[in-house]
Amino acid sequence: MTTIPVALEGRGYDVVIEPGLIARAGKLLAPIANGRPMPIVTDANLTPQLETLRQTLAAHGVRSEAIVVPPGEGSKSFAMLDHVTDRLLALGIERSDHIIALGGGVVGDLVGFAAAILKRGCRFVQVPTTLLAQVDSSVGGKTAINTRAGKNLVGAFHQPSLVLIDPDMLGTLPSRELRAGYAEVVKYGLIDDPAFFAWCESDGARLLAGDADARVHAIAHAVAAKARIVAADERETTGTRALLNLGHTFGHALEAETGFSDRLIHGEAVAAGMALAFRFSASRGLCSAADADRVGAHLRASGLPHDLASAGIDADGATLAAHMAHDKKAEGGRVPFLLARGIGQTFLARDVALADVADFLDAERVAA
Ligand code: NAD
Repeated sequence: MTTIPVALEGRGYDVVIEPGLIARAGKLLAPIANGRPMPIVTDANLTPQLETLRQTLAAHGVRSEAIVVPPGEGSKSFAMLDHVTDRLLALGIERSDHIIALGGGVVGDLVGFAAAILKRGCRFVQVPTTLLAQVDSSVGGKTAINTRAGKNLVGAFHQPSLVLIDPDMLGTLPSRELRAGYAEVVKYGLIDDPAFFAWCESDGARLLAGDADARVHAIAHAVAAKARIVAADERETTGTRALLNLGHTFGHALEAETGFSDRLIHGEAVAAGMALAFRFSASRGLCSAADADRVGAHLRASGLPHDLASAGIDADGATLAAHMAHDKKAEGGRVPFLLARGIGQTFLARDVALADVADFLDAERVAA
């Protein structure tokens, strides 16, 4: 069992990682349930995992009702928030109670936000079931739903009380979702850890193929990195936490261009976005072309999009830059960009003109 603490004054919690953990989770959950029931919110693809969790809770004397939402991004909505909060209130949820979020980033973000606002803030536990959620979204307390105006625009910072990660749950995850989550694993190497990027190059294929040791190693490494970053900058005020957005500004434009559809799922857009951020950095003389090539080559070898063509994007630079101009961080035609001086040397640049980004993307389109 690997336990990684997230050190936040008054809001600290543990992330526990262990293969097979879900079947034994009742032992860790019963003490925090404190004699109260623990409602579980999950999505309809996770019925077997829900049953396993309910059994271990029952074995430890914890009652649990299930609230099942439809799978997919559409569940991060006001309508589903309304449904889930109504059901939780009908179950008699109290402020000191814990709701369990069993699922990927969609369930985690929805339940986290519901917990943030129910009874002015009750508790929740993350049991992430996708690689993306295990290495990123379940840790750090960002919660949100989507609105007509865009993704994640209504939400709150609300930290969970505990995160339980069972890497064995990835066994049933569709391989496309697994690869998309792997992009977020690679991201931690690119941000500030060149040795971890080298590990991804040598051992990432084992993780994707299902090797249990490789999965535990990568998840623990990623969670420790995220815990460090969140402890340094919980609310993204100093710029440290913004490093986690590497690849996201380019990626967001690609997602917007594909209508946030399953033509390009989030982790795939992040993969292509990271490759573009490195090539853009190389085009500005910030990092070597060799480093940018290394990033693209590893993403390609991992079966991930690594340029506009492999992301299925044919739009011109101006169209993509226009999506970036709508980014919530844009100010006066400039958007803060995560650029790199090399692998493991990402930094926040505030002097990037969108017109330059558009020219770069036009050149990328011609080269494809
Ligand atoms: P997801 O939650 O939609 O899950 C992907 C699909 O996999 C779903 O169909 C789900 O039913 C299925 N699934 C989940 N676990 C499974 C399993 N073990 N076996 C079989 N199928 C399984 O997607 P995701 O990629 O986990 O999360 C994406 C969301 O996360 C986005 O809404 C994004 O905005 C959010 N996100 C949040 C943060 C944060 O810090 N809060 C960070 C990154 C992403």
